[in-house]
Amino acid sequence: MEQEGGQQAAEQLLREVEQEIRETARYTGVSGLSEAVKEALRTVPRDAFVPDGEQHAAWLNIPLPIGHGQTISQPYIVALMTELLQVGRESRVLEIGAGSGYQAAILSRIVAEVYTVEIVPALAERARKRLEALGYDNVHVRQGDGHLGWPEHAPYDGVIVTAAAPSIPTALVEQLREGHRMVIPIGRPWGPQVLTLLEKEAGGRIRSREVLPVAFVPMTGGGDAADR
Ligand code: SAH
Repeated sequence: MEQEGGQQAAEQLLREVEQEIRETARYTGVSGLSEAVKEALRTVPRDAFVPDGEQHAAWLNIPLPIGHGQTISQPYIVALMTELLQVGRESRVLEIGAGSGYQAAILSRIVAEVYTVEIVPALAERARKRLEALGYDNVHVRQGDGHLGWPEHAPYDGVIVTAAAPSIPTALVEQLREGHRMVIPIGRPWGPQVLTLLEKEAGGRIRSREVLPVAFVPMTGGGDAADR
């Protein structure tokens, strides 16, 4: 019974996300969801990633608080960013801002390996335990400052940043494989931000495109000297 209810909620959420994707296609350039992204949204239990007090809203297309002043992103944004990355079964992806672990779990259904960095120790620990308990064993969680990326596993076939930065951290560009993409909200803390899509061309040249105005929590931590 309960599982049936969950499935219905997941289908309803998927329909709402697909509708919003269609409505925003003109400026995002994303006109529909791939089968892989749809299947991930259907099967990853979002209720397992939101706190007890937010369970009633777990399957709604809205962001929710996860403690420590942080949020789990709106499912539409998760779907859009995942689609923009254009990653597939062989890809290895770096995420900055693990938060609840939901975006990482979605990616884990689509790509080979997910490396995710979270700066708040308690959130990193909780995300690691949760992902492990749910069996998402191709997600690797590390506690640390995402400005530095995760050099040991670079280069990545996609980089997704889920906290807003005033500028693009140079280490993340370095750790992106040529011919591949990064999605990152750019803007001042709590100021206007724009979701930005970067493509690192062969030879290292960067092309970028502004996709959508967004509201992410700020990226904290020191960063490196080159970013200041
Ligand atoms: N992707 C998450 C939502 C992220 S909210 C999910 O699916 O639930 C943004 C997260 O980025 C927060 O958890 C915040 O603690 C983290 N964060 C902020 N600055 C960071 C930094 N410099 N390095 C790593 N994580 C950071």
